[in-house]
Parts: sequence; structure tokens; C-alpha cells
Amino acid sequence: MSKQFNTISEEINEEAKKQAITWQVKALTDKANRELHRPKRPTPKCHFCDAPHYSSECQVVSSKKKAKMVETKHLCQICLNRANHHPASCRVLRQTQQLCHLRKCMKRWDIHHSSLCKEDPTTPEEQLEKGIEEEMNI
Ligand SMILES: [Zn+2]
Ligand SMILES: [Zn+2]
Ligand SMILES: [Zn+2]
Repeated sequence: MSKQFNTISEEINEEAKKQAITWQVKALTDKANRELHRPKRPTPKCHFCDAPHYSSECQVVSSKKKAKMVETKHLCQICLNRANHHPASCRVLRQTQQLCHLRKCMKRWDIHHSSLCKEDPTTPEEQLEKGIEEEMNI
């Protein structure tokens, strides 16, 4: 009797092991399938130089030239995309880290993307202000 019980429990163990392996394999194949069918992010295209990067990350075109192109190409000066929206409803407004934080620009409510700024961020005045801000953060 006890021998039979052992066999059954062994059988159950065997079955459980098999199921565990099946489950593991299934999880792996599921993961592989997900990787395979994961929608690829569309390659960004820079509105300024047509290279495959986001306009906001463009290092090719100077900020002065960018500002001009924003006007001629009718781009949004906040998100640097095609401006079929009002700047006030631009969603980048909520991602303030992308916006220009120079005091000169903020004072005159000139809201634009940081890469588009016409002001020179390395002027002593701005550097000084930035230094003070950094000190206050510590
Ligand atoms: Zn570019
Ligand atoms: Zn925008
Ligand atoms: Zn600015």
C-alpha cells in the first residue's frame, strides 16, 4: 500500500515537473513572440536636416537657423513638429525640461524649445544665475 502511495506521489511529482517545464517553455516562447511582434518605433525624422533623429535632438543645424526654419516651415516653436496645433495646447508645455529656461526668455514670456533659443546661454549673466540656482539646490 505504502509502496503504491509512493509511486503515485512520484508520479504526481513527475507530472508537476513536466508541467513546470512546459510552463517555462511556454513563457519563453511567449516572450520571444512578443519581442518578435513588438511594434517598432517609427524612425524619427528631423524637420531641420532630414536626418533620422528627433528635431529636438538636432545638433546639425544652428539654433539661429532653426528659429528661421520654424518660421518658414511653420513648425511649432515649442515641440518643433508640424504646427497643426496652437502653442498653448502643445503637449511639450507639460514637459518643461524641454523648454528654454533662460531668464531672459522667461521674462518676456518667449516660450520655445531649448534647442531653439536665440539667446546665448553662455553669457556671464546667465551662467551666474545658473550657478546661484545650482547652489540653492544643494
Ligand atoms: Zn537634424
Ligand atoms: Zn507644439
Ligand atoms: Zn530661450
